[in-house]
Amino acid sequence: MRREIHLFAGFSRNILYSLSFQITQRFASSSSTISPTNLETLCSNGHLTYALADMAKIGLQMDLQAYDTVLNECIKQKSVRGGQRVQAHMIKTQYKQPLYLGTRFLVLYSKCDCLREARQVFDEMPDKNVVSWTAMMSAYSKRSYGSEALDLLLQMLRSGSKPNEYTFATVLTCCTGICGLEYGRQVHSLIIKSNYESQLYVGCSLLDMYAKSGAIHEARFVFEDLPERDVVSWTAIISGYAQLGLDEDALELFRRLLREGMTLNYVTYASVLTAVSGLAAYEMGKQIHSHVIRSEVPFYVVLQNSLIDTYTKCGQLTYARKVFDKMPERTVISWNAMLVGYSKHGMAKELTELFEVMKKDKKVKPDKVTYLAILSGCSHGEMENKGLEFFDEMNEKDGVVPDIEHYGCVVDLLGRAGQVEKAFDFIKKMPIEPNAAIWGSLLGACLVHSNVEIGEIAGQRILEIEPENPGNYVILSNLFASRGRWDDVRNIRNLMEEKAVAKDPGKSWIEIDQTLHTFHAGDHLHPDINKVYDKMNELLVKLKEYGYSPDVSRVLYDVDDEQKEKILLGHSEKLALAYGLICSPEGKTIRIMKNLRVCVDCHSFAKVVSQVCGREVFMRDKNRFHHIVDGICSCGDYW
Ligand code: ZN
Ligand code: ZN
Repeated sequence: MRREIHLFAGFSRNILYSLSFQITQRFASSSSTISPTNLETLCSNGHLTYALADMAKIGLQMDLQAYDTVLNECIKQKSVRGGQRVQAHMIKTQYKQPLYLGTRFLVLYSKCDCLREARQVFDEMPDKNVVSWTAMMSAYSKRSYGSEALDLLLQMLRSGSKPNEYTFATVLTCCTGICGLEYGRQVHSLIIKSNYESQLYVGCSLLDMYAKSGAIHEARFVFEDLPERDVVSWTAIISGYAQLGLDEDALELFRRLLREGMTLNYVTYASVLTAVSGLAAYEMGKQIHSHVIRSEVPFYVVLQNSLIDTYTKCGQLTYARKVFDKMPERTVISWNAMLVGYSKHGMAKELTELFEVMKKDKKVKPDKVTYLAILSGCSHGEMENKGLEFFDEMNEKDGVVPDIEHYGCVVDLLGRAGQVEKAFDFIKKMPIEPNAAIWGSLLGACLVHSNVEIGEIAGQRILEIEPENPGNYVILSNLFASRGRWDDVRNIRNLMEEKAVAKDPGKSWIEIDQTLHTFHAGDHLHPDINKVYDKMNELLVKLKEYGYSPDVSRVLYDVDDEQKEKILLGHSEKLALAYGLICSPEGKTIRIMKNLRVCVDCHSFAKVVSQVCGREVFMRDKNRFHHIVDGICSCGDYW
């Protein structure tokens, strides 16, 4: 065999020469007969150092298989040093290294995070095949160098090499970021041209790429076209829908998945639970929980965290706490899920108690989310002093630097406690530029505590920052109206018509027998809508006896009061509530979810309904939970 010196790149010649010098020394002193089979035994027992020593003694007898054995052990042990010695040995013995071993070196350096060395090995390969191209792309993709990998694909095509399914799957994982989807589509068309479209492995990677880029229709298309579907592809498509908030579609697919009798893993369950919490579909959540228990899926922390999140979002704090208490280990996400739950439900006592337990436990450190839950919980739970204490503590004791949201919580806290001036002073001293949310919270406090002077300043600032939000104009005009400043009210309304963008249409959901019913504001589409309006009229007579009257002052449309009342009665959460009364047995708790904040009128409507009809009402809006029992809401009428 003709042996050629092929100098490997990546390491200085000095090191290699000094190593080969040592090897020469060994040759000289070696007299024993060691066969390459010993190498295998040594390597399979993990004795890399001995194997390397033997390699030196074997000398010229080292063949492809022997080198491969040693190199594989180097890869397994991530030993760059071992790899260097193998390289040096090859130089010394003038071994002409085949392409296969070159690729193994590439894999070794890539595994050891020596990306530059891997690339040099790759560049100096006299020939390259699809395996070496793919190995180099995979090295880039694993370190998130997506564009380098895509570049390499172009070079590969130009060189005349043909990609295979592993090349495509590797490259597809690089199609992320701003241009990711565009590249992904180009790779897709290349896949079609190369006839790899019906390969399961490629299909799954395509599906994953589209789902992660949010191109859910394309993902669905690929999914439906897959030659066969496994739990990974089902999970990818379900979580794709859930990530985009298309929860109903996610659940629809999940039902289909169950019908097809597929065995699920914990990632699938966690994805489905995301969709369930998005919809606050409690019955469905409970069903999935019992599924998890029955199918004996291992209780990974991720799955338990999802369960806690689902139960708190469905208003079932007791269930959430049961899951939490049973966890053998907890991450900061588990603690946060439980704390956020208490905070959003206004359960300040449980919240602060659990926080004390967390601090005593000392296993996990509170983070920004923890403090957000604590501060916001104190604010809603009228624990002003405690909240201020925690705010001081967060940086001093736990080293958590407050964000704009934490400052926002303090402004809210002071505002709710009626300390409007103090809140205003606090904003002036903030080290960060206050945003619309902070001015909005001050403005809200000014309205409640009738402080028109500061309210005007806050209003002015907020209209500068966020002129498109109609809610701001409404609050400001109500503030002026409370002092009879009608000219200002008119100005603000004109300004709103000029600048504000129409808000998202209101939408509410209710789950009846595991089916979700969606109602839109002024709905005419729901199949039972006539029954709902009949129920509404019947209710209205009763509710008015109990002191409810539609709060027409909040409707900004320029129409007469009768029209305004009609608009108010068509609010989606009222329709969903009425539907709940029709469809669920007497005494059963009604759970509603709304995409926006619940309005003041619907809030008082629901309170009177809870009294008159003897029902508990759970309302989850964009910001928080309202647990209404016998005319009293957990939010304390402040949300
Ligand atoms: Zn409403
Ligand atoms: Zn409430």
